[in-house]
Amino acid sequence: MKPVLLVTGGSQGIGAATVRLAAAAGYCVAFSYSRNPAPARALVAELASAGFEAHDFHADAADEAATKALFTHADALGPLAGLVNNAGITGPALTLDQITPAVIDEVMAINVRGVFLATREAIRRMARDLGGDGGAIVNVSSRAAALGGGGTWVHYAASKGAVDSFTIGAAAELASRGIRVNAVNPGLIDTDIHAKAGLNERLARMATTVPMGRAGSAEEVARAIVWLLSDEASYITGALLPVGGGR
Ligand code: NAP
Repeated sequence: MKPVLLVTGGSQGIGAATVRLAAAAGYCVAFSYSRNPAPARALVAELASAGFEAHDFHADAADEAATKALFTHADALGPLAGLVNNAGITGPALTLDQITPAVIDEVMAINVRGVFLATREAIRRMARDLGGDGGAIVNVSSRAAALGGGGTWVHYAASKGAVDSFTIGAAAELASRGIRVNAVNPGLIDTDIHAKAGLNERLARMATTVPMGRAGSAEEVARAIVWLLSDEASYITGALLPVGGGR
């Protein structure tokens, strides 16, 4: 039986690249999305035609009942071996004098509460003291956590700072229970997330500020994620791995 990997927000961008690489690496992958079913269906079909197994589920990462249902669906595929907490949004670009409680709450609910909720469900299945076989969790944070997002999205950067702290604490708490917890901190990555925030030109404008002179691809982040999940990273926990071309 293939090990089961659950990826939140796996229909597009970094999540979809992770689903592709993990399926090719031998995982049976369950992934969620919250708004747009078309790319999720297309990804499942693409992988099936290549002989790989992936299953899509509608589940808002911020919603406790939906997250519980997502993990229950994944249970039917086999024992859970790993979780990638990838679902995330930036929210709109806003300076601090323009920020609203609704924007803060939505970003924190998806990016932070979502990580807590999915991790809790994964622990209940993977922790050795609860009868599981252990496992690995990778949180998709951001270089924004260290850079701060000033002028555009401090709300988003602050949420990823919370993900970094969560990663360090969860790694310490779960090491003795057979679960490794790490984070990747992507820099400027070529996905639709920038356009969704209304910053269509951001990738081109910011690329020159990256020491390597370009944005990264979703697959370059996914490679780091799949490596951290694997036994190749068996003594690594609590790491915050920048994937930012030097940024
Ligand atoms: P993306 O292209 O916008 O893809 C986001 C994915 O997450 C989509 O599949 C989306 O599907 C899903 N999603 C969004 N909200 C969700 C929710 N509430 N519940 C479940 N799924 C949800 O974004 P991306 O650039 O790949 O970003 C992925 C992660 O990387 C995020 O955590 C982001 O903060 C982080 N990151 C990105 C960059 C970058 O430059 N791209 C840099 C640093 C960190 P639906 O729209 O259908 O829900």
